[in-house]
Amino acid sequence: MNENSSPLGDGGKIAIVTGGGSGLGFAIATKFIQQGITTIIAGRDKEKLNNAKEKLGDLCHAMPCDVSDLSSIPAFVEEVITQFGKVDILVNNAGINMKKEFTEVSDEEFQAILTTNVTAVFALSREVVKHMLAKATGNIIHISSMAAQYGLPKVIAYSASKTAIDGMTRAMAVELSPKGIRVNAIAPGFIYSAMTDKALNSDPERKAKVFGRTPMGYMGHPEDIGEAAYFLASDAAKYITGVVLPVDGGNSIGF
Ligand code: NAD
Repeated sequence: MNENSSPLGDGGKIAIVTGGGSGLGFAIATKFIQQGITTIIAGRDKEKLNNAKEKLGDLCHAMPCDVSDLSSIPAFVEEVITQFGKVDILVNNAGINMKKEFTEVSDEEFQAILTTNVTAVFALSREVVKHMLAKATGNIIHISSMAAQYGLPKVIAYSASKTAIDGMTRAMAVELSPKGIRVNAIAPGFIYSAMTDKALNSDPERKAKVFGRTPMGYMGHPEDIGEAAYFLASDAAKYITGVVLPVDGGNSIGF
């Protein structure tokens, strides 16, 4: 993990990864840092961020930020610009889910998911884009979900939010790509974590369903999402904008 180690010349680039203290965000930050990208991990839990920073080393910077506190976002971005001078890559990874029967979900619960998963993504992107436009270059990656590709029961707000992300990816791409900013999304399939592993092992029927429609026959790993994010953020993807890239072992096209 040393600076300027990337064969693609990423040393000197600055990235923000929201929710970078755990899960997929941590895997994305790990890959970026391996490639010499200075990576700011932003999240709510200071201790989690500091633990992650300890593992990721000097190119990692932990900056607490609760993205659902929309009014704090402009000051957060200003602080990043003051400390680092620019943002080359923004990964909107922070997200929350809630599993509940459709009729049990309150307006407040629905709105809370939308605030974190959609409005915060919009507000943070808007503030970062203002700075990217000044340099006529930048790269934004949203993290979508299979919940936007097909119908999943008991995740009404999450499905609505991730479907909004896919629309926002396209709308941002057409407006911002002519100005040098590429915008793409990743739609992770079933990705291994201690939680998903336990959930599937305790529900054999669901496990059979998941693997039955995943042509590759196994769950993905967080590193698979890190690799995809790095590819989309790199010049190897310089002609790619407005896509929602499934990283799912074929789950979205499996029958
Ligand atoms: P996770 O819970 O491990 O990570 C989410 C991160 O976001 C956490 O670090 C959390 O602290 C942070 N976060 C949540 N609310 C926040 C807020 N208000 N402000 C700042 N940070 C906040 O979950 P994960 O599985 O790594 O999920 C990451 C993203 O990937 C999410 O957007 C999720 O919807 C998406 N996703 C995950 C999977 C999967 O299989 N793991 C599949 C599809 C999509």
